[in-house]
Amino acid sequence: MKKHESVFRINQEGYVPGLPIHTVLLTAGEVRVKDAEGKTVYTIPQGEVLKDTASGDNVRLAEIPPLEAGEYVLESGEERRAFTVRPQAWQEVSDALIKGLYFQRCGCALDPAFAGVYHHPACHTAPAVGWEDRTLVRRVPGGWHDAGDYGKYTGPGAVTAAHMIYAWKLFPQGCPDALNIPESGNGIPDILNEAKYELDWLLEMQRSDGAFYHKLTKARFAPFIMPQDDLETEYLMPVSHCATAAACACLTLASRVWQTFHPAFANRALIAAKRAWNWLQAHPEFSPYRNPEDVHTGWYGDMSDRDERFWAACELYAATGEEAYREEAEKLYLQGLNLTAFGWADVSGIGALCCLFDLKEKGGEILYSRLKEDFLRQSGHALEWTKESGYGTALPADRYGWGSILPILSGAMAMIMNWLLTGKKEMRDGALKQWHYALGMNALDLCFVTGYGTNRVMNPHHRPSGSDGIDDPVPGLIAGGPNGNHNYPQTKEKLQGLPPAKCYLDELPSADTNEIAIYWNSPAIFTGAFVNQIST
Ligand SMILES: [Zn+2]
Repeated sequence: MKKHESVFRINQEGYVPGLPIHTVLLTAGEVRVKDAEGKTVYTIPQGEVLKDTASGDNVRLAEIPPLEAGEYVLESGEERRAFTVRPQAWQEVSDALIKGLYFQRCGCALDPAFAGVYHHPACHTAPAVGWEDRTLVRRVPGGWHDAGDYGKYTGPGAVTAAHMIYAWKLFPQGCPDALNIPESGNGIPDILNEAKYELDWLLEMQRSDGAFYHKLTKARFAPFIMPQDDLETEYLMPVSHCATAAACACLTLASRVWQTFHPAFANRALIAAKRAWNWLQAHPEFSPYRNPEDVHTGWYGDMSDRDERFWAACELYAATGEEAYREEAEKLYLQGLNLTAFGWADVSGIGALCCLFDLKEKGGEILYSRLKEDFLRQSGHALEWTKESGYGTALPADRYGWGSILPILSGAMAMIMNWLLTGKKEMRDGALKQWHYALGMNALDLCFVTGYGTNRVMNPHHRPSGSDGIDDPVPGLIAGGPNGNHNYPQTKEKLQGLPPAKCYLDELPSADTNEIAIYWNSPAIFTGAFVNQIST
C-alpha cells in the first residue's frame, strides 16, 4: 500500500506554535529536530520502544516542546522527515471538514462557484413516497447524503448537526466563517449555515402526529453512480422512537441557538420538538426500529431510546426551564448512562454537553454536581487508554470496529470537555493526540481526511468520489479507518492476521474500513474547532 515505511509518524498537516509537538517514533535511536538552516533545535534522546498492542509496532511517543513557526525535519540515522510549524496550521483542514458536508448536500445543484470541479446538478428531487402508506406522496427536500450512499437518516443527521452546533457554542473563534457556501456572508457563521441545511430537512421528516420517520431512502443502495443519476423512488420509512427523540433534542438545541439569528426558524423548531416530545410521552413503550422486509438500506438499529430521551429532556429543560423536563432527565440519568458516548447509537454525551456547559448550576444537584463527577470519572478512561496505546490513541486494541474513528474522536471530545472543566493539561494533550491520529500520527502513516496530508486516502467508499471521473476524491471527508472485525469477506481475505490498527484498505469496495460518514466528520469538526481555538 505504502512505498516507504517511515520511522516517524506525525500530524501531516503540521503543528502550531505554542503547543507541544507529539510524534511517534518507530526507532529507539536518538532523533534530532533540525530547523531550515540545519541547526539542531532539539534532541530526543535514545529511548526504549514498547510494543503497541493495537498495531504490533514497536514505538515510543515523544513530546517536543513548542517550536517557533518554520520548516523542520526529524532526523535519525539516514531517515529524515519534514514537518512544519505555522500559526493556524489546522484551519484549512478544519474548514474542509465542514465544507465536506456541503458536498453531501442533497436536493440542490452543487454550483461550480462553490463546488469547483465537484459540481453536479440537483439530485433526488422527486417526491418521496410513504413505505407503509403508498398514498402519501410528498416532497422532502434537502438534507445531507449520509455516508458513501445516498440515504438520509434522521438520527445520524441530528447527531451530526448537534456536534456542529456545540462546536460553535463552545469554540466560536475556532469555527471558520468563510467556507464559500451559498449562504456565506449572510451574517450567520458558516458552520451554523451548513448545519441548518440538515435542520431544514429534519423538520420535513416529521409525521403529522409528531413522530419522525427513521429515514428517507430507497429500498436498496444505488450502484456507484452520480446522485443526479440515482432516480429510483425514495421512501419515508416507518417512524421510530430513537429518530423522534434525537430529532426532538437537536431541534430544541437549534431553537436555542437560532433565537438570535432567525427567531421564526427557532420557534418553528421548538414547536416541532415539543410535538415530538408529546408523541414520545404518549408512546412510552420502546420498540426498536426494524427495516421492513425488502428494505436493504442502512438499519441504524438501536436497542434503547433512553439516551435519546435523556438528551431531548436536557435540551427541552434548557430551552424552557420547565421542571417536568428536568425531572424526566434526572430519572433517565439515574438509570445509568455513558456520558462519553457521542455517536448515533448512544447520544448520552451530547446530553452531558447540554448539562455541563449550558445548564451548569441550573441543572442542580443531580444534573450538574453529580453528573459532572460522573463525567470526570468516565472521561478519565479515555486518557487512560491514550497512555496504554503506543500511538497515544484513545481506543483499546480490541475495540477497532467499523468506523473506529468515531470512538477515537469521541475520546477527544470527552477529554476536551474534561479539560474545559478541570484545566488539566494532560486532557488537552490527550485530545490533541487524537487530532494527530486523524491527520497521520497512526500505524498506517495515513491522513484520514480526503484531500489532506502527504499520505492520502484516495479511494473512499463514497459514490460521488467513485463515479465522478475525477482522480482526487471529494475533499474534506474522513474515512472510518481500521476495523479488526473484517465485516466483508474480501476485506478479511486481504487483511486476515494483521493487528487491528492496521486492518485498513484504501479501496473503494471496502466500506468496512474506507467509507466516509457525516457523523464521523462532525466529531472531527468539533475537535478541529477546539484545536483552532487553543492555537489562535
Ligand atoms: Zn441527493
